[in-house]
Amino acid sequence: MKIGLSRRDFLKIVTAVFGTGIVSACERLLPAQTPMSTSTKTTTKIPSPTITSQPKCSADAFNALTQVVMPKGERYLADVPDTLDLFENAKLAINAFTRCTNPDDSCETYFYGSAARNPPVMFKADGLNAKFSEGLSLMRYLTGSSFNTQVDQRWREYFLEMFQKESIGLTFTDARFICWAANNSQQEKSVCWQEVAEEAISRLSRILTHERDYCYLTNSNGEMNTGWEATQEGWTLQGVTSVYSITGSLSARKLADELARYLKDHAQIFDANGRFLARHESEKGPALHFHGNGNTMTALSEYALATHDQEFADFVQKGYEYARSVGWPLVGFFPEYIEDWPDDRPYIDCETCATVDMVMMATNLSKLGKGDYWDDVDRYVRNQFTEMQMKNGDWINEVAKDYLNTPVRPDEDGDQVSDRVVGSFAGWASANDYCANKESPIISGCCTGNGARAIFHVLENMLEFDDGKLSVHLLLNHASPWADVNSYIPFSGQIDILMKTACNVEIRIPEWVKPEEVTCSVNNAPREVNLQGRYAQIGSVESGNVVTMNFPISERTVKTSLGNVSYTLIIKGNDVISIDPPGHWHAFYQREHYREKVRWVKRERFVPVL
Ligand SMILES: [Zn+2]
Repeated sequence: MKIGLSRRDFLKIVTAVFGTGIVSACERLLPAQTPMSTSTKTTTKIPSPTITSQPKCSADAFNALTQVVMPKGERYLADVPDTLDLFENAKLAINAFTRCTNPDDSCETYFYGSAARNPPVMFKADGLNAKFSEGLSLMRYLTGSSFNTQVDQRWREYFLEMFQKESIGLTFTDARFICWAANNSQQEKSVCWQEVAEEAISRLSRILTHERDYCYLTNSNGEMNTGWEATQEGWTLQGVTSVYSITGSLSARKLADELARYLKDHAQIFDANGRFLARHESEKGPALHFHGNGNTMTALSEYALATHDQEFADFVQKGYEYARSVGWPLVGFFPEYIEDWPDDRPYIDCETCATVDMVMMATNLSKLGKGDYWDDVDRYVRNQFTEMQMKNGDWINEVAKDYLNTPVRPDEDGDQVSDRVVGSFAGWASANDYCANKESPIISGCCTGNGARAIFHVLENMLEFDDGKLSVHLLLNHASPWADVNSYIPFSGQIDILMKTACNVEIRIPEWVKPEEVTCSVNNAPREVNLQGRYAQIGSVESGNVVTMNFPISERTVKTSLGNVSYTLIIKGNDVISIDPPGHWHAFYQREHYREKVRWVKRERFVPVL
């Protein structure tokens, strides 16, 4: 067994399974409207990371890392409006992560599956990928779910064994392992995970060529990688930045500085205005893949946030604005390729990873005070992003009925596929369907890995508590240590903040709301609010108070193109509640109920405690 699959292996598998026409999205990556308000609002004071000494990890403590550590936290049931709740998305992702795997002892991960087979199948893969380990541990942290922990257990054993054999820390695909180790060091308060992450970085540093203020990987001719091949270092930067942010490691900071400088100024991935340049080869010539470039820009946004570097923040803002201009930010539909496509497919599809890039960048730019991009995040997450996660797999069996019965081969798995793939994120979605094409793969491992990262990123950042003040940036259901948010949107224009701590509160008003139409109460007593930018200043509240904000919400009809198809959308607030023409297979926006009275549901809540 080996770590992940090489790019060549991926291409081989996908070509064999799907023909050459659809080889495109994530597997190629393995080597790897302006916002309504531009008012700047610095919402975050990012402290300098604490510099810690280097405690030694004993052999026993290292061996104990193979044991899954469940997060501590408070769990309870609550009645909440039946609106978007990313906590539920996180639980679905755990289903996909742990069940799109080989049920034998290897727990090897499946990257692709097909409904264009009867029965539907997933394709066995030879290996593990740390992208899954990282995503799964983030989802466990958010939910406290212990569903199928034997899978994490096996993955831990495997990766730690590889680490001890010094097979990890020598390629860019190890970057997700490094992120995973850094996250674990924080969530499990483990110095051993911290040492693992730092040792992996140290190994990486040794294979890079270091110049005065940048570093790079060389190709087989000993030359600096540029263009498409250089985008792999975007992943590396994410891992290294993650370690710096969490541990304060000075060696991680130095390497992050050098990698960021390389990616911005020397790697020829972007022009001076942040436009994407890195193309990979294809049958039709150089093809401009969104996520290959977008992931690198996302890495630079994470670096800018971790270091509060204004030069990089300015650059990321240019890159984000460019990327936004080539997609459809109204719903968060961003094309798998920009202008130069690798084949003659008749449709423009959206890869979850591209939308994830935009969610991450928009959030980071807002936190950096480069602009107020929260409505972008809101539109992307409420629409294309959450729709691209499979909520039910019954449609797969319906599609499969159109195909002749075919025996399941030894290198395939045809057992309960339609249940096991639930929670996966789409690799080739249209604006109205999980699949842009009937034969699009039903799972895309890279997209599920990145989708999970975005769920975590949004939930970790939508509320911010700093210096005695709670800022509510997004009006989504969520439970936190400081307050629980109940969002009625889009049933009605109401949000309840159930306070758990005494503090000042400010609530961001979405751009579709007129500030003068907002009313607010605390425990049903009217409360005057002042506006700072789009933030309503509620003032001081006590633990146990309920802050309620009301505003009008209405429907509007929008005729527009998404990709290369014309649609008629009905939009309520930022939520698309109907799309015409509708999808064929796993149709998006089955949301007619949002036009009725608010529905309530009893939901599990879990608030992790670090
Ligand atoms: Zn993807």
